[in-house]
Amino acid sequence: MALLVQKYGGTSVGSVERIQSVALKVKKARDEGHQMVVVVSAMSGETNRLVALAKAIQEPSNPRELDVLLSTGEQVTIALLAMALEKIGCPARSYTGFQAHILTDSAFNKARIQEIDDARVRADLEAGFVVVVAGFQGVDEQGDITTLGRGGSDTTAVAMAAALKADECQIFTDVDGVYTTDPRVEPKARKLDKITFEEMLEMASLGSKVLQIRSVEFAGKYHVPLRVLSSFEEGEGTLITFEEDGMEEAKISGIAFNRDEAKLTVRGVPDMPGVAYKILGPIGEANIEVDMIVQNISHDGTTDLTFTVHRNDYRKALAILQEVAKGLNAREVLGDDTIVKISLVGVGMRSHAGIAGTMFGTLAKEGINIRMISTSEIKISVVIDEKYLELGVRALHEAFGLAKA
Ligand code: ADP
Ligand code: ASP
Ligand code: MG
Repeated sequence: MALLVQKYGGTSVGSVERIQSVALKVKKARDEGHQMVVVVSAMSGETNRLVALAKAIQEPSNPRELDVLLSTGEQVTIALLAMALEKIGCPARSYTGFQAHILTDSAFNKARIQEIDDARVRADLEAGFVVVVAGFQGVDEQGDITTLGRGGSDTTAVAMAAALKADECQIFTDVDGVYTTDPRVEPKARKLDKITFEEMLEMASLGSKVLQIRSVEFAGKYHVPLRVLSSFEEGEGTLITFEEDGMEEAKISGIAFNRDEAKLTVRGVPDMPGVAYKILGPIGEANIEVDMIVQNISHDGTTDLTFTVHRNDYRKALAILQEVAKGLNAREVLGDDTIVKISLVGVGMRSHAGIAGTMFGTLAKEGINIRMISTSEIKISVVIDEKYLELGVRALHEAFGLAKA
């Protein structure tokens, strides 16, 4: 007998029929003798619909009220799944984040889970219930409802699995595992049987939305055995593993990309101590996260600084930069919100030279201009024009031999 935490994403619970088929899968696992905790997302499209409703009234929406609104999506699915389970003779109880005691900080819209008091859930499991928990939501110290950021149900599932010391956390979704790249962009993408936590963390942070990054962080921190599988097909899916000695290392495991990028440049600022701080300080104070940063070699005592931000923050960052530039006597401020980032990820990069060369050569052959580059031990990222995203991903996928055999 095992304790399993299963998570079903939006598409997997997108209709009454689909919720009923999730119920059958859960019942089957319970009939095999497992204790079951099931975390569900809102029905597909529902969170987007709620965001749009809020925007129609107020933009930006009040963060606290937005969380009250967004949390309703998951409240619908937990109740429906519990009913579907009851109907097929499987005793079940649904819990909102508040009822399941998922305590978070107070950062509305992007709260972090701090603690889970699992006493009630454990008692239900012991009593033979399937416990159905609302993903993506929690409650802060004041008792206010919080949400965990888009894709946050993954994190609810992993955090529940960590708290309960589950035998496995299974993320059921609309693909049958983690692929070498998003199969929607490259149909030749290959499913990976295994991927290391380290690589999955990079893939998620570089834009692969198959798992929310915080769920991978949690799994790494608490050593939660994590698997991504299909809701619709049988199969082993992809296991996220800790790096094993002797595991044959592919040079590159996958290609991630992020369409939500924008880039800003301040040209002709004095090259002296404190300038980067004067430029990026106000950006940070406005709660805008900066990703890549590049400073050029100076000419005539002046330099250029370029950095990237999330596309949603582009207008705000541009306005701040224009103000800062005046104070610094900068020559000009430039911005571009039609760029994307493509990244190669692989632990094998550590021991293989020449990967950057192959990457740049491949892009050059396709006539794709590289606007920025950044590297770390197990990834190389480039910023290119948005219109070349698909072409770039497919060319690199081919060049690194990632396609199906
Ligand atoms: P869910 O609603 O179940 O949480 P998501 O849409 O959040 O599902 O995540 C699944 C999607 O992630 C897939 O449909 C796929 O398009 C996308 N995806 C991006 N990168 C990858 C990858 N490397 N492997 C698999 N899927 C990926
Ligand atoms: N329903 C939320 C979203 O669409 C959380 C999730 O699906 O994981 O982002
Ligand atoms: Mg998701």
